[in-house]
Amino acid sequence: MLRRYLALTCLSLLVVLGGCTRSLEIDDRYQSANHDSRVQYVIVHYTSSGFDRALQHLTRGAVSSHYLISEEPVVYRLVDENRRAWHAGDSSWQGRTWLNGSSVGIEIVHPGYSDTPEGRVWHPWPAEQVDALIPLLQDILKRHQLSPDRVLGHSDVAPQRKVDPGPLFPWRQLAQAGVSIWPDAAQVAHHEHALAGRVPPPQWFDEALQAFGYSLAMSGSDPAATPDRARRNVIAAFQMRFRPALHDGVADSETAAILAALVPGATDSDLWCDPAPQPQAPDLPPVSPDLPRCQAAQTGNT
Ligand SMILES: [Zn+2]
Repeated sequence: MLRRYLALTCLSLLVVLGGCTRSLEIDDRYQSANHDSRVQYVIVHYTSSGFDRALQHLTRGAVSSHYLISEEPVVYRLVDENRRAWHAGDSSWQGRTWLNGSSVGIEIVHPGYSDTPEGRVWHPWPAEQVDALIPLLQDILKRHQLSPDRVLGHSDVAPQRKVDPGPLFPWRQLAQAGVSIWPDAAQVAHHEHALAGRVPPPQWFDEALQAFGYSLAMSGSDPAATPDRARRNVIAAFQMRFRPALHDGVADSETAAILAALVPGATDSDLWCDPAPQPQAPDLPPVSPDLPRCQAAQTGNT
């Protein structure tokens, strides 16, 4: 009787635990060749605070980054690259969103900007920190087999919320070191010549900026958000990277030429040669109606 009771108890336990006595065994004799790194982007930030505060924030606060570059500079690894760090927040690039899961984050100890009575003053980037950043980026790109266009600023992936790493960040120098991209000067000049001061319509900018990678989605929590304001913030983010001398978010002819040099096929759009393009900045002089249409100048475009 006792034996029967024990057998029944064991049987009911097995039912409850779902046959838990079998140990986990995985047969890995077959391997697929179809995989790549989960890391698709590298996102660069500045801390806007000193080292001690930034370290406290990134190790004990609610945010983190894989790397922190101090002013000396020392490159600290705070989070293993195989783990997800919390640095990008609500972000988007090339249709991918919430990029913490698909990126490596690098924070650089740097004050960003100071707002003064004379206006906003951006702080320059010390050469030593850039010299420390470049080999780190080269190493990350190589290990994850990423192309230089995958290195982005926080302002690229969150243009409605963020301005780091700011207009003085040396993107051109990074491109020369093979860890970023920069438009071809001859192509920019060609497109500028074709436009002759004219500005393609907002729809052209929207399409080209999105083709490049930006999201024009408005910030969900901002009651003042409008499509015009969202576009302006995205254009300002683009200008901070590629036309840092003026990053007011105004869609002008030079910005259009730079964007066209970076987005293959952007000048094939009918909108590029809108018959009545006008400058979008109120302080720009009116365009002469005698200008030839830009199609003629497009031949030889690459
Ligand atoms: Zn940031």
